[in-house]
Amino acid sequence: MIHSEKAYGKINLAMNILGRRPDGYHEVDTVYQSVSLHDDILFEASQTFRLTCSRNDLVCDETNLAYKAYTALLPFCDGPRPLHIHIDKHIPVAAGLAGGSADCAAVLRGLNRLWKLGLSPDTLRKIGRALGADVPFCINGGIARAGGIGEILVPLAPLPQWQVIILHPPVSVHTDKAYVLFDKASGLAGTDVGEMTAAVASKSFTRVCDAMSNTFETLIMPHVPAVGECMNLLRRRGLRPLMTGSGPTVFALVPSDTDGEELAAAIENETKTTEVILTTLQ
Ligand code: ATP
Repeated sequence: MIHSEKAYGKINLAMNILGRRPDGYHEVDTVYQSVSLHDDILFEASQTFRLTCSRNDLVCDETNLAYKAYTALLPFCDGPRPLHIHIDKHIPVAAGLAGGSADCAAVLRGLNRLWKLGLSPDTLRKIGRALGADVPFCINGGIARAGGIGEILVPLAPLPQWQVIILHPPVSVHTDKAYVLFDKASGLAGTDVGEMTAAVASKSFTRVCDAMSNTFETLIMPHVPAVGECMNLLRRRGLRPLMTGSGPTVFALVPSDTDGEELAAAIENETKTTEVILTTLQ
């Protein structure tokens, strides 16, 4: 029998970087929001452990975050647990959408259930924190303000299921390289994440759009022209664009009086290389 678990991606509605810590991690202040765009993680009985993925450019060895999640749970078991884990990948990779962290969290959740380990969400978040800064958020998802390296989570009241249009240009940005740019920069304008939490509480579409800000944007844009091009595609249609995480993906919330499908099709016509994804807040 095959069990499955959904691994939802995320966007950052606001993202501030507070500084580098002595251990090399960076302190952040951010509002994470899950989106319906997800990978499917399938668990199937097997004679040996196997990890496979629908995308053959994604390595399925011990560096894969799904593999790391499986390994991290073995000490909680009383014997070997051979299993086939398959990742049906839909979330763009190295895109700022936390696809790897989402897979990792989904494997932790799924195996906790399948193996009846009885680990609390808090314990899963602690295990996940050692595997990646976005993993603790991905355990429960929804919407939350996060501090520390992303693991100190304060859940916020959910927003309506607004549509989101996501533009993913064909370039990768690795988060560690983006943080190097931050370390070298000076005089950066910060992001007022408090304004975003107030906007989220108000549930006002306009206020949330106005509060959208990401400190990584000014760092990444000069190095990755595709980010600015995606932003212009959205701006020309009257939308408020924002880069998510360390990019290069750009998103905009879609006003309720706009036909999201039509908008996505129109933008798709204008761009040859950028992936256009219409999804909703999850
Ligand atoms: P984040 O926003 O959490 O920093 P991201 O969305 O920018 O992440 P991911 O898609 O999570 O990026 O991929 C980051 C790196 O993790 C990639 O270099 C990729 O090779 C590696 N990785 C390991 N496991 C996975 C996985 N299951 N899915 C995607 N990427 C993975």
